[in-house]
Amino acid sequence: MPIHPTTDRDRLEPCERCGDDTPHEVRIEIRTESTKRENAQFSREPYRIATCVVCGSESVLRMNNA
Ligand SMILES: [Zn+2]
Repeated sequence: MPIHPTTDRDRLEPCERCGDDTPHEVRIEIRTESTKRENAQFSREPYRIATCVVCGSESVLRMNNA
């Protein structure tokens, strides 16, 4: 699946804390999740993290919505 580079810092998204649409800094992060110890498999999930530049609140969105 293609991951679009999101480097624009002026992306307006709703912020719960601000209660308004605010500029957000968006980045994509691959986070490794270990589910169970016995299961030696780690799932690496891409997360989309939008940080409100006004209040610094982060909203994390899991990109794999299976
Ligand atoms: Zn905010």
